[in-house]
Amino acid sequence: MRAVEDRQVLIVGGGPAGAATAIRLARRGRDVLLVERAASWQWRACGVFTSPATVVELQRLGVGGPDLDRIARRLPAMRVETPRGTRFRLTYGADGSLAAASVGLDRSALDPHLLDLARSAGTEIRTGVAVRSVHGERATLSDGRAIRARVIVGADGLRSTVARDAGVVRRPPLGDRPALTFHVAEPPPLAPRDARMVVFDGGYVGLAPVPGGRVNVGIVLADAAWRERLRSDGAAATAAAVMRRIPMAGDDPVPWTAPEPCDAIEGASPVAARVAARSGRDWLLVGDAAGFLDPFTGEGLHRALRSAELAAIAIDRHLDGDVAALAAYDRALTRRTRAKDAVSLLVQAFLGSPPAFEYAARRLASRSEVRETMGRVIGDLAPASTAFDPRFLVALLRP
Ligand SMILES: Cc1cc2nc3c(=O)[nH]c(=O)nc-3n(C[C@H](O)[C@H](O)[C@H](O)COP(=O)(O)OP(=O)(O)OC[C@H]3O[C@@H](n4cnc5c(N)ncnc54)[C@H](O)[C@@H]3O)c2cc1C
Repeated sequence: MRAVEDRQVLIVGGGPAGAATAIRLARRGRDVLLVERAASWQWRACGVFTSPATVVELQRLGVGGPDLDRIARRLPAMRVETPRGTRFRLTYGADGSLAAASVGLDRSALDPHLLDLARSAGTEIRTGVAVRSVHGERATLSDGRAIRARVIVGADGLRSTVARDAGVVRRPPLGDRPALTFHVAEPPPLAPRDARMVVFDGGYVGLAPVPGGRVNVGIVLADAAWRERLRSDGAAATAAAVMRRIPMAGDDPVPWTAPEPCDAIEGASPVAARVAARSGRDWLLVGDAAGFLDPFTGEGLHRALRSAELAAIAIDRHLDGDVAALAAYDRALTRRTRAKDAVSLLVQAFLGSPPAFEYAARRLASRSEVRETMGRVIGDLAPASTAFDPRFLVALLRP
């Protein structure tokens, strides 16, 4: 029988949440082992569009200068489009600089770069190794080894093994919505262009230009008819049917009816996760493992980095003997995410009722102040509670 290896912190998963937690803990001088299932970076179902709030978080981690230029492509706005042709642009307070712009991220550059930063800070990283199960302080790896850690961090995404073995996984509130995602080639010249969020009957598709001459396509199938079609026709035919529903726009880089895919269509189902608790006696969850509602309001990446920051502070205190630190993390994260989750659920309620969504979209299109506020809330640049202020609701919904 192999010996058990003792570590201070074991982080399961090397996506943005796991890498950011590792960077912060290793910089505090902690002994950190991170294990990542993939042997090398590979395209998987994940998001690329994010607001300036995430760019600020990346800069705070030390991602800047030419690295940021390589990883992030500035997008002037996110254009939301309804099935009836109403359009409005969310600019997130953009002032022309990369630090204040929404961006499309190259995840094949971002994720490995964050792992490099974690490694340089002193984290030991093992790739091509998955955590199979977690019991108390002990994790069993796919290579047969066992690790005993004072804290185990679940940064393992939507289908978290750490959350599963802690018994906290619950059914997501929006049901079993699948998502499909891939990139298409964008021929030069690579002009600055808006991201688009195109709502169609029964779902929506996000089109986000990213570095390297590509556009990321992210499709969410919200209704049962589309889910049935996915089951019967498969991912490629379903994605093609959705692409045919995208209206041509003057600044489109390619015809969406005949895109040239750059990578395989990857899926996630459901594209959400919900947990009953985000920490326990000797474990905690960060990023998607700690809960994710839906890509439409795009908070996943920002939340991954913010939860990593809170987690690193809590773990540091826990290792110094503060027995309440991990429970305090759960409360702090719940406090920070509750109002934004309520906004996201409200947006989903409007999306679920096409006449109501059209009504709200027309008002957002014609009321610039309300639109600006909405963009700041959705982009995590203003407190989410702003969206429940009666003055804001009246300004948005009055005829
Ligand atoms: C289709 C889709 C569209 C999205 N669109 C957006 C968007 O536009 N904007 C936005 O902000 N967010 C979006 N998101 C969410 C965003 O992708 C996530 O919030 C973000 O990637 C979270 O990072 P993470 O590190 O928590 O998880 P992930 O990025 O999923 O990383 C988890 C890592 O853990 C590894 N792993 C999993 N299990 C194990 C195991 N047992 N052992 C070891 N390693 C393991 C995986 O290989 C992976 O590398 C979208 C998500 C999807 C699926």
